[in-house]
Amino acid sequence: TTDPSFSLRPVPLSPTLAVNEALDRRRRAGAPVLPLGFGEAGIPVHPLLTEALASAAGRGAYGPVAGSPELRAAAAGYWTRRDLPTDPGQVVAGPGSKALLFGLLTALGGDVVVPAPSWVTYAAQTALAGAAPVRVPTPPGEGGVPDPAALAAAVTRARAGGRTVRAVVLTLPDNPTGTLARPETVSRVCAAARDLDLAVISDEIYGDLVHDPSSPVPRAALCAPERTVVTTALSKQFAAGGWRIGVARLPDGPFGRALRTSLLGVGSEIWSSAPAPMQHAAALALSEPPELAERVDRSRRLHAAVARAVALRFRAAGALVPEPAAAFYLYPDLEPLRDALAGVRTGAELASLLLERHGVGVLPGAVFGDDPRALRMRVAPSLLYGATDEHRLAALAAPD
Ligand code: PLP
Repeated sequence: TTDPSFSLRPVPLSPTLAVNEALDRRRRAGAPVLPLGFGEAGIPVHPLLTEALASAAGRGAYGPVAGSPELRAAAAGYWTRRDLPTDPGQVVAGPGSKALLFGLLTALGGDVVVPAPSWVTYAAQTALAGAAPVRVPTPPGEGGVPDPAALAAAVTRARAGGRTVRAVVLTLPDNPTGTLARPETVSRVCAAARDLDLAVISDEIYGDLVHDPSSPVPRAALCAPERTVVTTALSKQFAAGGWRIGVARLPDGPFGRALRTSLLGVGSEIWSSAPAPMQHAAALALSEPPELAERVDRSRRLHAAVARAVALRFRAAGALVPEPAAAFYLYPDLEPLRDALAGVRTGAELASLLLERHGVGVLPGAVFGDDPRALRMRVAPSLLYGATDEHRLAALAAPD
């Protein structure tokens, strides 16, 4: 007999989830853990949202693949209030923006430009969708967008080699660096995407967590409206990642309509429809009543304060840290600490040492397709305020 595992396709666990599982094993063994690997806000879900979810628990029927009319209208309003007039017909809901991104990459059916560094999942999903990532470095301090000149060179080279490159992914603001590209850089990337006939996928899941509300927030859909898809979710600003609900805004026009049809086809074969109770709660969240807007604002200020404080400590120790401008990540370069970290040469070595000796979960830069000397850590509110729900609520009320 033949062992069927010989013919299995090896698919590794996503590094963000693998670090969670390693921490869980330690936790179950009674050892202390500090989870700074997985990206979540570390604050409670607002009671208005839990009440909305509970009120919809009886909704047991499947719904439309594109999402409920209620959620699509709320998402359309959310984007319209952010200078992107949106018709509910342009919105598709799914079980998390991660699933929607996979649906989009599958529907696009070609290779994809993925910035280096960038969120672990884009490159892995591109490969799962049967294509290959084209890695292009990001400008210093402006994570999440490929350098525009390097983008053009890399796509031209890949095409000359016979590859079909269909899209470029942007993360605005960025994970893992916690930085925000300048609007001029994003405009240049949009112009390059137009010249190269690339679709733009703009992952804006951290869009409401820009630390300084007066800083200009670039939006790819404003500079390349006919070819940009925007995704967001409830996971980060509403701290409801476990609810698994996200939304995509497809562009208006023939390209957007064709892509939507294919995305719905993929969704219909994978998730059928997003979970109905979550859609109801998401509709409330995206309609942004004052209590929820206030919670998002407090959480934004909290993450800004924690990121600032932790970045100062890293710098005092000698690490190079890009100035955090959004979300809840720091991406220090540990090269200057080489002597202090005697014997530790890479972010991967330091990450496994921190996990094994101290129960601290972080992610090495290499998993983001970048510098092996870098490390990504989540700047959890618990680092400054403690880890119970009472601590978390107190942290939200704390002055900046
Ligand atoms: N995009 C980025 C940049 C992320 O960091 C994450 C979560 O870590 C996601 C998308 C996925 O979010 P979700 O699937 O919870 O909507």
